[in-house]
Amino acid sequence: MLVEKNVPLQSFNTFGIVAKALTLVRLQGLADIDTLLADAALKTAPKFILGGGSNIVLTGDVKPLVLKVEIMGKQLVSQTAKAWIVEAGAGENWHDLVTWTLENGYPGLENLALIPGSVGASPVQNIGAYGVELQDRFESLDAVDMTTGQRFTLNAAQCAFGYRDSVFKHLSNQGSQPGFGLADKALITHVRFALPKNWKPVLGYADIEKKRLQAGMDHPTAQQIYDWVCDIRRAKLPDWRVLGNAGSFFKNPTVSAEQCADIIEREPKIVHYVLADGSVKLAAGWLIDACGWKGKHIGNAGVYERQALVLVNRGGQANPVTGGEVMTLAKSIQTSVYERFGIMLAHEPVVV
Ligand SMILES: Cc1cc2nc3c(=O)[nH]c(=O)nc-3n(C[C@H](O)[C@H](O)[C@H](O)COP(=O)(O)OP(=O)(O)OC[C@H]3O[C@@H](n4cnc5c(N)ncnc54)[C@H](O)[C@@H]3O)c2cc1C
Repeated sequence: MLVEKNVPLQSFNTFGIVAKALTLVRLQGLADIDTLLADAALKTAPKFILGGGSNIVLTGDVKPLVLKVEIMGKQLVSQTAKAWIVEAGAGENWHDLVTWTLENGYPGLENLALIPGSVGASPVQNIGAYGVELQDRFESLDAVDMTTGQRFTLNAAQCAFGYRDSVFKHLSNQGSQPGFGLADKALITHVRFALPKNWKPVLGYADIEKKRLQAGMDHPTAQQIYDWVCDIRRAKLPDWRVLGNAGSFFKNPTVSAEQCADIIEREPKIVHYVLADGSVKLAAGWLIDACGWKGKHIGNAGVYERQALVLVNRGGQANPVTGGEVMTLAKSIQTSVYERFGIMLAHEPVVV
């Protein structure tokens, strides 16, 4: 177990924000976690778990102990009549895992190609893209309770997956009230995926459908969908290595059918999707764009000119955006959208 002091975090977060970890520990296996928890001072210190840093906004130096998860490994661990069960260490790069599963004949994750970050963080916000969410391919995960050292395994129901949500996004205690969450406790060490033997493509998303029609393919392979998803994402989203960002900054809000009808009366062009339960999901990017934010900026925090849902670091590595600028811009956008539509947007990244 390696304990480092005053570690620069600029290359550990995709916004490229400058901050440092006062103390950072790299965890490369369960033995490192045991060693950490055997140290009385480290065991009781407040902690922040860091994966690939692609869903965080750093607002200053990180005082809690930063646990950089570097647990590696990916393998087929078992199979059922219906699925291949693949396990990966939390420190594996997500996109590398997707690529590896396809190369080894276990399709099912292709719609989630090119999402930045680590395997360990993928259940935290139940990552999703192009019609597939992590929960659709999830089997179980292993984690450690960092307050007690206890190891445990959770199935999908126990993870309480929701839209960009899970038990790992909620605290175990809300003030004096007991909560149901594990955000302040659980470090995910391994994740297992159930990848269907009777694989069927998940199509239907407009961009993928366009690619399918262009290629004239009725029955695309998983590799084909992977290639299309990579192409679409490269065309739509800024490369964080060139223009720092954390992907979609706001969640798409859900409103009741009545609320939506009321908004449509005022804003007939609003982009919306009716969900199975009758509620309606609105496109947050459209709401932000309608408020005139696309291409605007506050300091070095900008709204990406091709997709209003993405906030970017306009200052690059040399003159990087600060977490304060990002959050000031985010709050200004929230206020505009609230004043015009009566909807409070929730941000996706974790503010540290
Ligand atoms: C360009 C771009 C595109 C994106 N596109 C998408 C997309 O299409 N869909 C989508 O869902 N997301 C997307 N994201 C967001 C991001 O990639 C995901 O949320 C990703 O899962 C974050 O992984 P990470 O390892 O970088 O997590 P971090 O940013 O390092 O951490 C995020 C949270 O997870 C916690 N965490 C990390 N690892 C662990 C662990 N092992 N155990 C417990 N907690 C942990 C952290 O404490 C933190 O609270 C995008 C981001 C970018 C930059």
